[in-house]
Amino acid sequence: MEDIKRKTISALLSEGAENAGKIVDVKGWVRTRRGNKNVQFVALNDGSTINNLQIVFDLSKFTEEDLKPITTGSSIHVQGELVASQGKGQSVEVQARELEIYGTAPVDYPLQKKGHTLEFLREKAHLRPRTNTFGAVLRIRHALAYAIHKFFNDKGFFYFHTPLITASDCEGAGAQFQVTTLPLENLPVGEDGKIDYSEDFFGKMASLTVSGQLEGELGATALGLIYTFGPTFRAENSNTQRHLSEFWMIEPEMAFYEIADNMDLAEEFIKYCINYALEHCKDDIQFLNDHFDKELIERLKFVVENDFVRLPYTEGVKILEESGRKFEFPVYWGVDLASEHERFLVEEHFKKPVILTDYPKEIKAFYMKLNDDGKTVRAMDVLFPKIGEIIGGSQREENYDKLTKRIEELGLTGMDWYLDTRKYGTVPHSGFGLGFERLVLFVTGMQNIRDVIPFPRYPKNCEY
Ligand code: ATP
Ligand code: MN
Repeated sequence: MEDIKRKTISALLSEGAENAGKIVDVKGWVRTRRGNKNVQFVALNDGSTINNLQIVFDLSKFTEEDLKPITTGSSIHVQGELVASQGKGQSVEVQARELEIYGTAPVDYPLQKKGHTLEFLREKAHLRPRTNTFGAVLRIRHALAYAIHKFFNDKGFFYFHTPLITASDCEGAGAQFQVTTLPLENLPVGEDGKIDYSEDFFGKMASLTVSGQLEGELGATALGLIYTFGPTFRAENSNTQRHLSEFWMIEPEMAFYEIADNMDLAEEFIKYCINYALEHCKDDIQFLNDHFDKELIERLKFVVENDFVRLPYTEGVKILEESGRKFEFPVYWGVDLASEHERFLVEEHFKKPVILTDYPKEIKAFYMKLNDDGKTVRAMDVLFPKIGEIIGGSQREENYDKLTKRIEELGLTGMDWYLDTRKYGTVPHSGFGLGFERLVLFVTGMQNIRDVIPFPRYPKNCEY
């Protein structure tokens, strides 16, 4: 083969006919091969785009024997002339001159035909990135991750790394996975009959983080505007379509932001990300719209173009009580709203995303700022159609005495380092957490959160 620089299929297709007549070099995986005794057509995909490049093999130049290893799933390297295509659906194709087979794929290749169910593909999660659907989802996932960094960077936020292993058991956001090097079959026991953690790796009990927020606050009360974007672990036994045991979370934390600033930022942020995907992932979103969710693009545009409703919890409960609807779980002031309640407000009552604020303090975390009524806190949950809660956030309690009192009420210990932010130069500040996979779920229109991360972890499942 000649020494020609390889181009991605994405580049070749977008440059189109301007390269016609040139010899190009392409590599990829074969989706299909069809044709007759005179000519064979191979649909080649290299992962750079959902679109395939058509390679034409003239059987006066290649023998049937040459082409035999070119099966669905095989990998090949081709050089040939780029020509304008007569076929519909593509601007250019390649007339093959040289062929190198990297690897054929035997007939037991699991992704032979199109249209496998998502359940089937979940069993083949090691190969599913090669399908159109997962290729699209994973490219969109990438674009959203990039958009998130760009959004915050352009606004002057600093990317702040919070620890994944933590000894603080007060995060309170969910059940934690313990991290230990103690021998589980022979645990050291102290005189009180309890496990002696002084012999453990860190000399105390440690676990994987369920949220970087508390450490994020240390960053915000020094650097001003920070965000985290990292893995988060929750050992909740919730087998739902919206929960993973390992997921990625984005947690901005802002000094001098009050709750209204926090809401403005959350709304602007989500809209920015959705817009970015609409602009940069057109083909992938169109594919998902056509194959899985006919209202996807419409829904994304609707969310971007409309103001989110801002509604106090107390009013939300009133709407639910007066709706006349029979819910599975009862509604009353003080209840932690269930997904059916959130979805009623968003999908049926307002038909728009809703930011619910000022929740009863009992159902929210200890660090949220107490309102003057003494009963509610400055929390804000952003509720989305089909997803339910996509963001949870609040203005933080910055008053040292009030926060200390709440920590004591709840019997939390080991919080001195956290309280120091309030003891020394305290400032009003706010922040929120966005579950990255819930955003990807919304933008892709997928139904199940296990289908928007390459290697999902959930109860009784830890493959690869
Ligand atoms: P939920 O009530 O849906 O379990 P939460 O109240 O536990 O959510 P937070 O602790 O506020 O959620 O976490 C912030 C964000 O992280 C949520 O708004 C959601 O987008 C996301 N999130 C929370 N738990 C999970 C999970 N198990 N898997 C994926 N994303 C999650
Ligand atoms: Mn939860």
